[in-house]
Amino acid sequence: MAAITYKCPNCGGELTFDPSSQKYKCEYCMSKFTQEELDAMAPKEGEERADNAGGSQTESASDPSGAGMPKDSQADGSESGAGKTDGAGSAMVYTCPSCGAEIVTDETTAATFCYYCHNPVVLSGRLSGEYMPNKVIPFAIDKKEATKQFMEYVGRKKFVPKAFFNKSQIEKLSGVYFPYWQYSCQVDGEADGEGTRTRVWRAGETEYTETSIYRLERRGDISLRNMTKNALKKSDKALVEGVQPYRIDEAKEFSMGYLSGFQAEKRDMEKSEFEVQMHQDAEEYSKRLLRDTMEGYSTVTVQSSHVEFRKEEWKYLLLPVWVLTYSGRNDKVYYYALNGQNGNVCGKLPVDYGKLGIVSGITAAVVFVIGLIGGYLL
Ligand SMILES: [Zn+2]
Ligand SMILES: [Zn+2]
Repeated sequence: MAAITYKCPNCGGELTFDPSSQKYKCEYCMSKFTQEELDAMAPKEGEERADNAGGSQTESASDPSGAGMPKDSQADGSESGAGKTDGAGSAMVYTCPSCGAEIVTDETTAATFCYYCHNPVVLSGRLSGEYMPNKVIPFAIDKKEATKQFMEYVGRKKFVPKAFFNKSQIEKLSGVYFPYWQYSCQVDGEADGEGTRTRVWRAGETEYTETSIYRLERRGDISLRNMTKNALKKSDKALVEGVQPYRIDEAKEFSMGYLSGFQAEKRDMEKSEFEVQMHQDAEEYSKRLLRDTMEGYSTVTVQSSHVEFRKEEWKYLLLPVWVLTYSGRNDKVYYYALNGQNGNVCGKLPVDYGKLGIVSGITAAVVFVIGLIGGYLL
C-alpha cells in the first residue's frame, strides 16, 4: 500500500480535485486536468511502514483479502498485534511523497494532508480490493463557498460564542468523504383492509345514516432506491445523517483522484450489520406507501400486510461533507456540517440544537400499484 500525491505534469505542484470546475487543479500554475487526463498520469508514491512501536496492527491484519499474503509493510514481524482492535494500536505511519515527513493516520483514514508540507496525500491501499468504493459523489461545493455558507449560518444564530467561528476555527473546516452503504431493492407488497363511507340524509322527521363497508386490496410493486447508512463507527451519526439527503443518482464511478485535496475515511462496518435495520426501514416505508393509496374513505383499517424483497443491491459509496467541530466547555463536542453536494446543513451549536435527520435517507421511491381496485362494496 502506498501514499500517493497527484503531481502537476507542467510544474510538479500537487493536484487537488476542484469542486467548482469538477476538474483537477494545480494550485501553483493553475492548470486544470480532466478525469481522463488524471487517469493517464502516474501518481507519485511514497512508502509505508507499520508503526511497530505500540504493537501495532498491520493493515493486512484487518483486511481479510490480505490474510496469509505477507506484504512488505508487515515484514517487521508485528504479528503480535494481529486481531488487536483498540484505536491506539491501529495507527499507521506513511512517508509523505512530497517532503518525506511521517504521516500518522488511524485505521480508517484513506486520504489526508501532510502535517508538514500540507500536500494532499491519498492512501490508495486503504480503498483497494473489497474496500474499493463502487461510487462517489465528488465535492461540488468548495472551501470558499462552504466557509461563506458557514458564516451566514452562524450569523443567523444568536448567542453562539465567538470562539466557535473565529479565524483559526474556520481554517479547520474540513472536506471529508464519509463511507456509506447504499441499498436498493424491489418490494412485492400487499395490504388488505376495510374502509367505510357514511352518508346522512333526512326524510321528514327521520334522519338516516348509511354506512358502506368496503374491502380494500392493494398489491404493490415498489422500487426502493438509494437508502443509505453511514458505515463508520466513530462518525457522529447525528452529524452525518443530518446533512442527508444527497442526490445519489448523480454519484460517479469511484476514482481515487477525487480524494486528492480532501480527507477520506474508509468503512469499518459491513453490510451484514445493517441488513436487519435496512429491511425494517424498507418494510415500514413500503407498507406506508400501500396504506396511503387507500384514500377516499371516512375510516380505513389495515387488517393484514406483507412484503417480500427482490433484486437487493448493496453499494459502497463515499459522500462529501464539510465539517467543523468545536470542543466547548466540559469537553462537549459541537459541530457544523454541510452537505458537500447540495449544501444541506445541520449543526449542533454551543447553544442551538439543529435539526436531526431521518434514520435513513430515502431519496427516491417509485411505486406502481397494480390491481388498484378502488374498493368494492361488501
Ligand atoms: Zn502546475
Ligand atoms: Zn509532506
